[in-house]
Amino acid sequence: MFTSIIGYPRVGKLRELKFATEKYFKKEVSPQHLEDIAKEIRKEQWLIQKNSGLDFIPSNDFSFYDNMLDTAVLLNVIPKRYSRLNLSLIDTYFAMARGYQGGAGDVKALGMKKWFNTNYHYIVPEIDDDTDIKLAGTKPLDEFLQAKSLGIQTKIVVIGAFTFLKSAKFTGKKKASDFADAMIEAYSRLIAEAENKGVYWIQFDEPCLVCDLTAEDIALFEKLYKGILFAKKSIRVLLQTYFGDIRDCYKNVTALDFDGIGLDFIEGKKTLELIKSNGFPDSKILFAGVVNGKNIWRNNYQKTLETIVQLKALKINTVIGTSCSLLHVPYTIKNETKLPEKYIRYFAFAEEKLQELVQLRELAECECDYKSIETFKVNAALFTERPDCRNEKVHERLEKIKASDFVRQPDFFTREKKQKSRFGLPMFPTTTIGSFPQTADVKANRNAFKKGEIDEATYNNFNRQKIAECVKLQEEIGLDVLVHGEFERNDMVEYFGEQLDGFLFTEKAWVQSYGTRCVKPPLIWGDVSRNKPMTVAWSVYAQSLTDKPMKGMLTGPVTILNWSFPREDISVKESTFQIALAIRDEAKDLEANGIKIIQVDEAALREKLPLRKSDWYCEYLDWAVPAFRLVHSGLNAETQIHTHMCYSEFTDIIKAIDDMDADVITFEASRSDLMILDSLLENNFKTEVGPGVYDIHSPRVPSIHEIKSSLDKMLTKIKPEKLWVNPDCGLKTRGIFETVASLRNLVEATKLLRNQKK
Ligand code: GLN
Ligand code: ZN
Repeated sequence: MFTSIIGYPRVGKLRELKFATEKYFKKEVSPQHLEDIAKEIRKEQWLIQKNSGLDFIPSNDFSFYDNMLDTAVLLNVIPKRYSRLNLSLIDTYFAMARGYQGGAGDVKALGMKKWFNTNYHYIVPEIDDDTDIKLAGTKPLDEFLQAKSLGIQTKIVVIGAFTFLKSAKFTGKKKASDFADAMIEAYSRLIAEAENKGVYWIQFDEPCLVCDLTAEDIALFEKLYKGILFAKKSIRVLLQTYFGDIRDCYKNVTALDFDGIGLDFIEGKKTLELIKSNGFPDSKILFAGVVNGKNIWRNNYQKTLETIVQLKALKINTVIGTSCSLLHVPYTIKNETKLPEKYIRYFAFAEEKLQELVQLRELAECECDYKSIETFKVNAALFTERPDCRNEKVHERLEKIKASDFVRQPDFFTREKKQKSRFGLPMFPTTTIGSFPQTADVKANRNAFKKGEIDEATYNNFNRQKIAECVKLQEEIGLDVLVHGEFERNDMVEYFGEQLDGFLFTEKAWVQSYGTRCVKPPLIWGDVSRNKPMTVAWSVYAQSLTDKPMKGMLTGPVTILNWSFPREDISVKESTFQIALAIRDEAKDLEANGIKIIQVDEAALREKLPLRKSDWYCEYLDWAVPAFRLVHSGLNAETQIHTHMCYSEFTDIIKAIDDMDADVITFEASRSDLMILDSLLENNFKTEVGPGVYDIHSPRVPSIHEIKSSLDKMLTKIKPEKLWVNPDCGLKTRGIFETVASLRNLVEATKLLRNQKK
C-alpha cells in the first residue's frame, strides 16, 4: 500500500516566502532573490516528504500567490489590462493578484473568493470572449524537473479543467462550454509535454465535483475529460476530489479512463457508501483521503484502519492519503515551544500528518494483528481521555437549555418601538462598526506589554486614553451611536479566545489565508466557559465619557468557532453552543452595567455554509442561527442588539439572517451591486439595516455627494425608519486622516438626507 498527499503548505515554515515576497513588493529584493527563496522552500519540503517515507510527493503545489492564478497564467488567461502593462511575467502575475499602480498604469486586482468551505481565498480568473486559452507556461514542468534533479520523482498537481472553468468569471457572452475545446487542447499538450519529461503521474484537482451538479455540468466534465484523457500514452492521470463526496457524478467519473481517483473519506459522508453500492473499477487505483487535511488533531488509527480493512475486503487497489491539501494546516508542531507536552501529543500538523500516513501504511500492511503494535497502542491511548477538556458545569448548563432560551421576548416589532422611544435617535442614525485605526502607538503599547516591558496599569492607562480620544472624536464628528474603538484587541477572535477557558494558542502555527496573508487560528481544546467579564470594564469606561449610547462589542459564537480549529470529539454545534453561553453571559453583564446597545459580530457566519444546498439548514443554519439567538435571548426588550457581517452575499440565506432576530444589522454593500437591497425588499426583511456606504479596504475618501447618492439609492428599497448609516467594516486597518475625513463626509451626507426628508 502506498501513501500520498494532495499538496503541502508553501509559505515556508517560518513564513519565509511571505517575508521575501513582501520585500519584493517593496522593491527591496530582486526577482532572482525571490526565486531562490522559493527554490529553497520547495527543496526543503520535498526532502521532508521524501525522508518521512511518503510515496507520492506532489509538485506544482507551490505558489507565489495562489494556484488558481498560476493555472490562469499557465493557460494564458491574462486579461488585456494586465498584459498591456508590459511588465515581466512575475510582475504581471502580481498585478493580477494585487492590482498595480505605477509608471506602467493603474489597474485593480482580479477578484478574490473563498476556496470552497475553507478560509483560503483564490484569485478569480477572468475569461473574456476573445481570451485565447492555450498552454502558455512551463511552471509545472520546471518544478517537476527541479525535484527530479534532487532525485525525487514527483506527481505533478494542476487544477483541473472543470474546476478552473467553473471557478472563473466570464465577462462576455461566452460561457464555460464555449472554451471546452481550447481547454482540452491545452491540457492535452500539458500531458504530452509531461510525458516527454518523464512524468509518471499527473493529478488534476477537481473539488468542484463535490458540489451540487446539474446535467449540464456533468456533460461539460465528461466532454473535457474524454478529450484530455485521449492524449495520454504512458502517463497516469489521477482525478483528485476533496471537501466532500461526488454523489452527483460517481458513475460518470469511474467510467472515464482515469488511472487513479482521489476521494475524500473525511468530509465525504457518502464516499464509502458510493463505493460499496456502485463498486470501484479493478483497473483503477483509489486514492483514499483518510487523514484530515483541514484539522489539526491526530488521526484516529482505529477508525481509519477499519475503513482500510473494508476497502481491502472489496479488493480495491488503495493508496492512502490526506482528505485535501495540507495547505489548510500549519507546518509542524515542532515549532511550538510553549504548549505543554500533555497537549502537544494530540496534534498533527502537516509534517506530523506525513508520519501518520506512513504509520498507517505499516499498520495496514502488517501480517499480525495491528492492535498489538506499539504505534497503534500509543495512538489508541489518545482517544480514551484528554486532560483538562471536560467541564461538568458547562454540560449541566447545556442540558438545561430549553426551546424558549432561543427566543427573545417580546417580538421584534414591540422591541423596535420600545427602542425607538428609549434612544430617541435621529432619522438615519450614524455609527461605525467598532474598531478605530490601530495606529503604530496602539500596537507598540500592546507589544511592550506582551514583552513585559510595561506593567498592566501602564498598558491599560494608555488604552483608556485612546478610548477617551476616540469618544471625543466621534462626538465632534457628530456620530449618533458611538464605539470605544477596540484598541485593547489584537484580533476579534483571539481576544475572546485568550480570555475564555477551553482554548489553546500557538506561536507559529500560521495558515495561509490569501497571498502573503496568514492567520493563526486558536485551537478549541475543551469545553468553553467564561470565568470573568471580558469587555465590561472597557465598555463601561467608554460609556462614562459620553451621553450618547456606547455600543458594547462582542464576537459571535459562530465566528469564534469558524475562525478556530474545532474539536472533533464533540460536535461543532455543541462547541458553538458552549461559546454562545459564554458570550451570552458577557452580553448580560454589559446590560447590567448600563450598556444599552450591544453588537455581536458574526463576520464569518457564512464561511462554513455547506457546499451542497441540501445541507445548508440541516447541517448548519439550523444550529448556527439558534447559537446566535442564544446569545441575546436573555436581554431586556430595550437593549438593542446589533450584528455585523463582512459581506453582502446573503441573498440566498436572507431568511436565516432575519431569523437571527437582531435589532440592527450592518454589512458590506459598498462594493457589491445593490442586488441585496432588492432581496431585502422582496423578503420583507424586518431587521433594521446599515448597508456600508463606503469601502474601508481602500484609503480613498468618499465624497459627501457619493455617500449621499448611495443613500438615495438605498432609500428606493429600504424604508427610511429602517436605515442606518455606517462604513462597511471596522476601521482598524485605516489611517487616522482618511478615517476622520470619510466619517465627516458620512455625517454631512446624512444631514443632507435628513433635511431633504423633513
Ligand atoms: N467590530 C469589529 C471591528 O470593527 C468587526 C470586524 C470585522 O467585521 N471583521 O473591527
Ligand atoms: Zn466587517
